[in-house]
Amino acid sequence: MRATVIHAPGDIRVENRPEPEITAPTDAVIRTVATCVCGSDLWSYRGVMPVDEPQPIGHEYVGVVEEVGSEVSGVEPGQFVIGSFVASDNACPVCRAGYHTSCQHAEWVTGCQAEYVRVPLAEGTLVAVPEQPTEELIPSLLTLSDVMGTGWYAAKAAGVRPGATAVVVGDGAVGLCAVIAAKELGAERVIAMSRHESRQKLAREFGATDIVTERGDEGVARVKELTDGTGADSVLECVGTQQSMQQALRSTRPGGNVGFVGMPHGVRIDGQELFFSHVGLRGGPAPVRACLPDLIHRVLSGRIDPGRVFDLTLPLDEVAEGYKAMDERRAIKTLLRP
Ligand SMILES: [Zn+2]
Repeated sequence: MRATVIHAPGDIRVENRPEPEITAPTDAVIRTVATCVCGSDLWSYRGVMPVDEPQPIGHEYVGVVEEVGSEVSGVEPGQFVIGSFVASDNACPVCRAGYHTSCQHAEWVTGCQAEYVRVPLAEGTLVAVPEQPTEELIPSLLTLSDVMGTGWYAAKAAGVRPGATAVVVGDGAVGLCAVIAAKELGAERVIAMSRHESRQKLAREFGATDIVTERGDEGVARVKELTDGTGADSVLECVGTQQSMQQALRSTRPGGNVGFVGMPHGVRIDGQELFFSHVGLRGGPAPVRACLPDLIHRVLSGRIDPGRVFDLTLPLDEVAEGYKAMDERRAIKTLLRP
């Protein structure tokens, strides 16, 4: 099969690799219908995370089940399925508490920018869509595998409630999905922090009521200004840098919450500042499996259309261009069709 392999920073290739097989009785193999490039794939593409040897890459997928192991029930060949980037049993105490990405049997799913994917713990990981979706719905369903689920978790972790004022830090695909999530959870005001005109426009269409272009201390001052000097009830941090995290914490009112889903790189938090801020902080790799049934319903019923974050669609063979376009910020997110 054709599969994407990263050889070194900036070196992405499509190669012929053996098709994955069932290796444990709890596995499934799916034929990928659509996959995509994640902002977090760019960490290794840019050399921020080391690439020691060639490795298959990609962790977002929707597809049709080809084969299941002998212990898999509830998931059958022929079904159109979505799963998280972390496989989970959906049964252990941690999963039952809703934190599937920390499942006691968690396994990261990788190598998804390929024609076929092996999904461990298939019964707990995959959720079947009631019927074969139409072409138009595929991009939105694909976002549920990571970015939309991650935006949703950011909003939940930040405690967005009806009537709340929410700030979204970051205008990548996750940040834009976080705008959708804040609106769906009832935020009355959604302030999106973005400097890019096309992203600002999409944020507004997704439900942002205000746009803040300033960053750092100036960004904090602007949010304070928009909230009568108080700060926001909920801040959704979708970047993962020192500046974005500090900006998030300082934009939140005392007693408010920050939900952080941008993978932190070099972020340090001052304990005393956090202590005196009275701000609650929760984040981590989003347990997207927990919200999959709900989000599938919202997509199928037409309530949300997060697939609009894909502004570039390429055949899998052109995946290298997909990475390049995102690296150069020419594209928000690249969808790939094997
Ligand atoms: Zn579990």
